[in-house]
Amino acid sequence: MIKVTKPYIPNIKKYQSLVEHILKSGQLTNDGPFCVELEDRLKEFLGVRNVILVSNGTTALQSCYVALGLQGGVLTSPFSFVATASSIKWQGLEPHFIDIEEGSLNINPSLIKRNLNSSISAVVPVHVYGNPCSIEDIDKIAQEERIRVIYDAAHAFGVNYNGKSILRYGDASTLSFHATKLFHTMEGGAIVTENDDLAKAIREIKNFGIEDYEIKRLGVNFKMSEMHAAMGVCVLDDINLILEKREEIWSKYKTSLQGYLELQERLKGSSNNYSYFPCVFKNKREMQRVNDALENEKIFPRRYFSPSLDTVEALSGLKKRKTPVSRDISDRVLCLPIYPELALEDVDRIINIIKQSLLTV
Ligand SMILES: *Cc1c(COP(=O)(O)O)cnc(C)c1O
Repeated sequence: MIKVTKPYIPNIKKYQSLVEHILKSGQLTNDGPFCVELEDRLKEFLGVRNVILVSNGTTALQSCYVALGLQGGVLTSPFSFVATASSIKWQGLEPHFIDIEEGSLNINPSLIKRNLNSSISAVVPVHVYGNPCSIEDIDKIAQEERIRVIYDAAHAFGVNYNGKSILRYGDASTLSFHATKLFHTMEGGAIVTENDDLAKAIREIKNFGIEDYEIKRLGVNFKMSEMHAAMGVCVLDDINLILEKREEIWSKYKTSLQGYLELQERLKGSSNNYSYFPCVFKNKREMQRVNDALENEKIFPRRYFSPSLDTVEALSGLKKRKTPVSRDISDRVLCLPIYPELALEDVDRIINIIKQSLLTV
């Protein structure tokens, strides 16, 4: 059986020895040496100023909303994983969905400006599939209009724009280190920001509001444990290998499938982390036919991202606001299996099944 992704398992003996070290040391959590090491190494690897580890990518988003004091409405993309919008709603804010662009599949910057009003305090764009949003346009609008920008960069680990990390844009960017992501700590996440005051506020929030044994503000518990951080250290040791393997698979898909279906248009000047291989088919029927043909062979692509979040009752406040491009793409997109362990023969097999089912109408 081949699924869309498979968690990367580092050398088991190495991880075991770190776990043993942690257990013998007695420091299991509370910003222990593995959390400190992982933050330092991530800062260096990503080329960013502050990395704050938290319990997952969803609490990373929530920390930012609280630290930045968001109120009222928040503009965001309906073409994302549910956590982007549910984290907004969970914090008592109202997600307002803004449509995406047909090619980049990211939030349309011109619609941000058009949908601003006095109740909107922030925008949460998503670098979907690791393709950077129009970061310069978005940051410019946000500065002019005095709203905050928190990029959901859960897919964008290690992606650069003009040679520098895209995580340096906006007020902050959030990462998910869930087991299925490119880089992972089993469960985990981080906030990346160039703003030291914001970093300090988030550090307090994730630790009950406590700093230097004093309760400085209202906080919660969003901490990462040492076991999780140690997994991150092991996976980070292998990150170049992970990226190479993914690139190999991604390139094979691209060479073989371009012309047969629509591929995402990536931002000029940006690098790729090869975290997903999204395919946009002509229509829902064609997508379904390819999906069924693959499932027949025990290959399970995923309909990332379906449904379009503006159609989800629990999330959508403003029923009037329709996002037709997002709904349309959600109906005809599939993400193909891509992970380091996936054999190139299996990639060939997947490509052939797709081509076959596109040709037999
Ligand atoms: C995975 C993901 C999240 C949530 O991350 P968790 O670590 O699972 O909480 C948020 N946004 C996007 C776009 C994601 O893909």
